[in-house]
Parts: sequence; structure tokens; C-alpha cells
Amino acid sequence: MPAFPQSTVLGYPRIGPRRELKRALESYWDGRATRDELEAAGAAIRASTWRRLAELGLEGLPSNTFSLYDQVLDTAVLLGAVPERYREAADPYFAMARGADGLAPLRMTKWFDTNYHYIVPEIGPETAFKLDAAKPLGEVREARALGYETRPVVVGPVTFLLLSADPEAALARLDDVLACYEELLGALAAEGVAWVQLDEPALVADRTPAELAAVRTAYERLGNVAARPGLFVASYFGHLGEALPVLAATPVEAVGVDLVRGGADGLAALAGKTVVAGVVSGRDVWRTSPSRAARALAAVREHADQVTVSTSCSLLHVPYDVTAEPGLDPALRGRLAFAEQKVSEVVALSRTAPPVQDGGEDARAHRAGAADVSVGAGRSAYEVRARAQAERLKLPLLPVTTIGSFPQTGELRAARAGVAAGTLDAEEYESRVRAEVERVIRLQERLGLDVLVHGEPERNDMVQYFAEHLEGFAVTANGWVQSYGSRCTRPPILHGDVSRPEPITVRWAAYAGSLTDRPVKGMLTGPVTIVAWSFVRDDLPLRDVVRQVADAVREEVRDLEAAGVPIIQVDEPALRELLPLRRSAQAGYLEWAVAAYRRATSGAGDRTQIHTHLCYSNADQILAAIDGLDADVTTIESARSGARILDAVGSFGRGLGPGVYDIHSPRVPDAAEVEGLLRRTLAVLPAGRVWVNPDCGLKTRTYEEVEASLANVVAAAAGLRAEL
Ligand code: GLN
Ligand code: ZN
Repeated sequence: MPAFPQSTVLGYPRIGPRRELKRALESYWDGRATRDELEAAGAAIRASTWRRLAELGLEGLPSNTFSLYDQVLDTAVLLGAVPERYREAADPYFAMARGADGLAPLRMTKWFDTNYHYIVPEIGPETAFKLDAAKPLGEVREARALGYETRPVVVGPVTFLLLSADPEAALARLDDVLACYEELLGALAAEGVAWVQLDEPALVADRTPAELAAVRTAYERLGNVAARPGLFVASYFGHLGEALPVLAATPVEAVGVDLVRGGADGLAALAGKTVVAGVVSGRDVWRTSPSRAARALAAVREHADQVTVSTSCSLLHVPYDVTAEPGLDPALRGRLAFAEQKVSEVVALSRTAPPVQDGGEDARAHRAGAADVSVGAGRSAYEVRARAQAERLKLPLLPVTTIGSFPQTGELRAARAGVAAGTLDAEEYESRVRAEVERVIRLQERLGLDVLVHGEPERNDMVQYFAEHLEGFAVTANGWVQSYGSRCTRPPILHGDVSRPEPITVRWAAYAGSLTDRPVKGMLTGPVTIVAWSFVRDDLPLRDVVRQVADAVREEVRDLEAAGVPIIQVDEPALRELLPLRRSAQAGYLEWAVAAYRRATSGAGDRTQIHTHLCYSNADQILAAIDGLDADVTTIESARSGARILDAVGSFGRGLGPGVYDIHSPRVPDAAEVEGLLRRTLAVLPAGRVWVNPDCGLKTRTYEEVEASLANVVAAAAGLRAEL
């Protein structure tokens, strides 16, 4: 077995430095480009990535980290796990990813605790596994033709099965899946590949004894393949915990560990193996502290002879290049490292001789958490508030509302781009936004909604908008990170102490309120969500950062209330996202996250109704924490997942609006369907606490769809109200 290279990264961004892949995909999907043109765009991105990594001095170049859509979907294709119904589609790969005429796509969900979404494989007794190694072999050959030897990266068998729709049924197919991986190892060996990387991030979460046994079986078997490349099993997003000794006892030659999130404890078990030490974070945008990284490497070297310097996970989760951000404040830019800079850090660390002495304390000031200043007794008990609000708002039973955004038209987006480019003046933009607010108010009045919204036309994005108006944040010009498929976001960078120099939303809320007699909700993003969707400073504990943001939101709530806004919604769609992967850490997280939300909202008086909104599957698992937010009304995604949450909401103690309309699809629900969902809700909750609303904001829909859908929602609510 050739020695493992001295430096490597676990993966790299693939959307292209200028989002070339996004453009190529969209052209192909629209029929403006052929499949060959799409493939050529992919090949160009791969070639420039390998060239760049080699230029930067990286020794171990990965391949097969490119994907036209998603690496988990690629793995399903590799293993032949294409559900029968997609096989006849014109393009089965994209039919699984995005759907095709008459075929719904496979489900999509979050990749561990990142903001990346993968396609959920469907594995069952009927899955006919059959290896199709064209993609990894093709990339090995393609790189070789350019003069580079590479290490193919594939999702490992245990993680692949555990991530599928029914993990238990999938794990029952372990033997058959392993047969495919054995064949893959043989094919890679025949191709002259020295090392293969099998990604097993699922091993850093709690695993049952049966799942740990699957790890043992898998890597015993793969280790015993006669002719195979060296086996490098990469873990990331946390410490391997109980899986570490299991993996250590198998014949794999190299193990990757995340030393940013986990410590070096237990690594003695890996004696005799190469430890691929993830000391450069793949999850943030900060330069690595050389002394901290050196200390982590020294700790590993105590236990292992062979140590490779690497990133903590794939660099997929960070933007390409800081030098593409000339607009950033130079002092801030000097603190940042995107993918290119992180590769250089890995290379530099691999070339530094192991330090004899501890490098001393690094500059990171671990300030003590801000004292838990009391934010006042705040609000009365829910029942008392509910009475005060009922008197003020005079709403009917089953009030109908929406989640906040109305369709973002092309004209609005173009106007915003015009302001950025200097071709549209701020005043003209402002008057267009006001016109849009008025249109949205009139539409809601006409449709007969009870609690109106202003429609959020002034917001590009629910987090970026606030980041642009708060101190302590910076936004990038090109810092795109893949969210799923061709979709990218530009997470703001929270780099300093957060404060709110002046009111942000008050004039919009006040203007909307002045247009109508009906109550209009003020609309804010919650502290946890603002932090979850940003890159966050690492010199303060996360809970302290969230608390600073909560204080800024609290000031905005106070000003909205003072401006006479009767209802204030503070969205927390990302509450579940930051939930730690290990169960033992979850209660502690929920406690401080809920406390931050209450800090943000508890300054409101009893007569001001606080709403919150959450949207993701499995909300039922944290329903008690959601109730603990103590919002007067919670609107929550439900229709999309077949209203499963209704089984759990019986104990919910406050107003609740389980969504009656899946906004992810262009389909218009009819009134009978909405009525059916409402009847189910009324069977588990008192009518006086039931709200009627869509699953989420309407931003991505068209006005045509929204008008038709909301008309049916209003009709269904009115019909039922008459019965109550
Ligand atoms: N108020 C936001 C909207 O309606 C909420 C979006 C979200 O939950 N992701 O767009
Ligand atoms: Zn939502």
C-alpha cells in the first residue's frame, strides 16, 4: 500500500467559482443546452479544481467529489438503487432529483447539521443493486489524462443505508450493498487507484448496537477484498465516539477524524493506521489558528505514526475564494479563509515540522458569556394574554393568515439589482416596494384574510435582509454555497458584536398597517435562524452570539409595538437545524435556544400578539420546545408531510396553525381538501386555538397560484366557522 499523502481535503465546492454549474444545469433543464454541453461544463469545473489544488501544493487530490446534483444521489446510481418508477424517464437522474412529467422527485432533506440538502434514497427488499462505476472510474481517468492521480470519494455503505428513507429496511440489505462496494474496490484497483475515500459521517451520531455491528461487518468485509486500494474511512461533523474502537478493529488503513468539532480522545485505538487529521474547519470561513492546529496535530501524533493534515469535512460548505471579495473591509478579509485559502492552510500545516513545545495561547479571546441580565418579568400567562388580545383584535374563530412573503416578482428582483448597480435610485425603488405592499394588502382584503401581512417585497432573503441592517455582519458578493442542486445561498458573515443601529422594519409595517382596518403582522426573523444561516464568529460561544442577536430583535419588537403594530411574528424555521447530532447535547441546546427566543419576544406587552413560524419535517420531535417558545400563535409546516404532526399536537398549549397548503408545489389545493385538514385539526385542538394558514411563505409561487389557493383556504375556513 503506498503511503497516504501528507496533505489532503475531504472534498471541494463544485458549483463553480462563478456558479458555472448552476447556469449549465438551468440551460440543460430549459432545453437550451444538450446533455453533452452540460457534461462539458462539469468537466471544465473538475479540471480547474484539480489544477488549482495541485498549484496550491496539495498532495492528495480527491475525485468524484463533483456532482451534477448531489453525491448521495450519485451513490444511489452507483449502486443501481434507482426506483423502478424512474427507470423509463427521459433522464432518470434528474427525474429522481427534480421530478419529471407525472413523477414526483425523491424526497430531499438536510445533510446532517449543515444547510446542504441531499436526495433521500429509497432502499427496500425490492431494490435491485447493481454496480455502475462509470462516474468514479471516469473521473479517475479524466484526472489522469490531465496528469493527476486522484483518490475517488464515495459515500460509505453504512451512511448510505442509514440516510435512506427507511433506514431499518435499508440496513437489512447490507450484504447486497457490500457486494457492490467489493466489486467497486476491485474495479478501482484494476484501474490502478491507490486509495479510496469512503465517507461515513453517520458514525458521529448516536448509533445502536445493530448499526455498530453493521460498521464492523462492512469494514471487515471490504478490508478482506483481495485486490483493492487502501481504504480511507472519513468521519466528520463530530467525534466518532463508540464507532471509533469498532472502526479501529477493522482492516481499514486510514481513518479521518474531525478535530475541529471533536477531540483527540480515543485515538490511541488507531495505532498502526494513518490518521487523517481534520484540523482546518470546513464549516466556517475563519483562518485557522496555526497554534491551535499545531496543538491538535501534536495530540494526534502522540498516538499515530502516520498523520495527514486535512480539512475537518468537505469544503463543499464554504465559498470558493476570499480574493473574489474586494468589497469587504480589509481588516475583516484578513481574518477570512474560503476554500482556496483553507487548502493553502492545509498545505502549510503539512509542511511545518511538528512543534516541540506548545505554541502558547492563541489570540482567540474566550470572553466569559455575558451575564444573564434579567430582561424583565415580561408577559403574563398565555390565558391572560389571549384574553387581552381577543379583546383588541376581535378576530373570528379559525382566523386565516399567511406566513409572510407574497410572490417575489421579476420586476422586484430587477429593481433591487438596479439599485445595486446604481441604475435605479433609492427613491424610485422605495416607491415600487410601497406599491407592491399596497397591492398585497388589497389582494388579502379582497380574498377575505383575517390577519394580513405586508408581503416582504423589500427583502431579498429573510436572513440577509437583517444582516444588511445590523452592525456586526458583512455580506459577500460571490460567497455562494450550494444548498441543493443548482441552488446556492450567500450566507452573511457575523464577525463582530451585533447591534441594531436603527429600526429596520418599522416603517414598512407601519405603512402596511395604515392601508387597512384589518390587523397587519410585523415580520421578523428570529435570533436562532439568523445565526443558523450565517457564518458565525468562533471566538464567542454560540449561545452568546445568539443572545446578542436576540437583543437586537428585542429592540425591533419594542419599536414595532410602540408604532402600534398589534401582531409581531418572529420566525424560527431553523430552530431544529442547530440541534446537536448527539442526543446527550440536545436538551442543553434547546434550553438556551428557547431562552434566546423568549428574550427576543418577552418585551412585548400582553395585548401584542406574538406569532412564530417553523417549517421542517419531524417538528413533532421538538414540539415541547416549540411550545416553550411561548408564542401566542405558532404556524407550522404540516400539509407537505401529510399532516403527520396532527398526531402530536394535542398537548400543545397555545394557538396553532398547522399548514393546510403545501407551498412547495404549484398545485392549487381545493377547498374540500383544506376542509379535511381543518377537520382533523379541530379533532385534536380546541377551535378557539386553531389558526388557518399555508405551510410556509408564498415567495416562490406565482400570484395566479396564490390567489386560487388562498381563495379555497378562506372558503374552507368560512364553511367550517359556520358549523362551530
Ligand atoms: N416569513 C418568511 C416568509 O414567509 C418565512 C420563511 C421561512 O419560513 N423559511 O417567507
Ligand atoms: Zn417556513
